[in-house]
Amino acid sequence: MSLGDGDRQALKARLEWLRLMGVDAVRRRAGSAAPRGVVLTGMASEPAAPVDAPAPAHPPTPAHPPAPVGPQSLRGGLFGEAPGPEAAPGAAEAGPARRSRAAVADPGASPLVPFLAERARADADSAGADADPAGALAALRDEIGDCRRCRLSEKRTTIVFGVGNPGARLMFVGEGPGADEDIQGEPFVGRAGHLLTKIIEAMGLKRADVYIANIVKCRPPENRTPLPDEVSTCGPFLFRQIAAIRPEVIVCLGTPATQTLLGSRETITKIRGIFRTIEGIRVMPTFHPAYLLRNPAAKREVWEDMKQVMAVLNPPV
Ligand code: URA
Repeated sequence: MSLGDGDRQALKARLEWLRLMGVDAVRRRAGSAAPRGVVLTGMASEPAAPVDAPAPAHPPTPAHPPAPVGPQSLRGGLFGEAPGPEAAPGAAEAGPARRSRAAVADPGASPLVPFLAERARADADSAGADADPAGALAALRDEIGDCRRCRLSEKRTTIVFGVGNPGARLMFVGEGPGADEDIQGEPFVGRAGHLLTKIIEAMGLKRADVYIANIVKCRPPENRTPLPDEVSTCGPFLFRQIAAIRPEVIVCLGTPATQTLLGSRETITKIRGIFRTIEGIRVMPTFHPAYLLRNPAAKREVWEDMKQVMAVLNPPV
């Protein structure tokens, strides 16, 4: 059977990623075929068992669209141990991952919960009328306008809203736009972005299949980590994007994205590779691509995490 151009390209992307992951080396060492779970169909044959925390204790469903998450819930040492997207990696993302249930925060603490609950309520009220994620995203972008809600607006060139498929099953959340993104107005288009694109393609997807956004929409000066009050101001726009899209899986790239979505203070080193479930959405924390650029050996762990994600999106039949 001959491969079409699309298949050939997808296969090439997958092989390139596997090469980047060092899969050849593994194969040689093990003296066997490809490692279990690494298959070219985009499916992990034996994903690591996902560890889900207990069902969330939901806060009361808000009567109105949820109020912006105030500094209270985000205050205090947030991201303190995390490197910024382009910053030199700190100790927090280096070193072996020690992961256990105990390291996983309470999913009920996620500031995303009321936004998703509101969406569920609206869906129930509309009695099965089709949701319109594209329309909701367009309205949200309008509402953001030429945003001056926080100091990040002072130095930004372009608001980087987010990009991709409004009906995406998979969403990636990063930290904040860097220099390239600030100019082009699209998330993850710089070096780290190219690596993210490779990861997406290695999963058998295209960038246009998924949705990509950040916790803040304007570039933090010098690519510093966004400050808690900036995340408090901008985060609710991300939460509303997530509620509009309602993906099946969200991949959090790095500590700030993970802490913001989970409402936790755990660093990525402790909780990467462990699925959480927020209102039915599976959330996978993994390393940020900028960290991978500086620590290529960690690509292997990210690939393990992506195999778990693929297994959720394409469950074995
Ligand atoms: N790093 C991020 O976290 N987001 C981007 O959009 C680019 C780099």
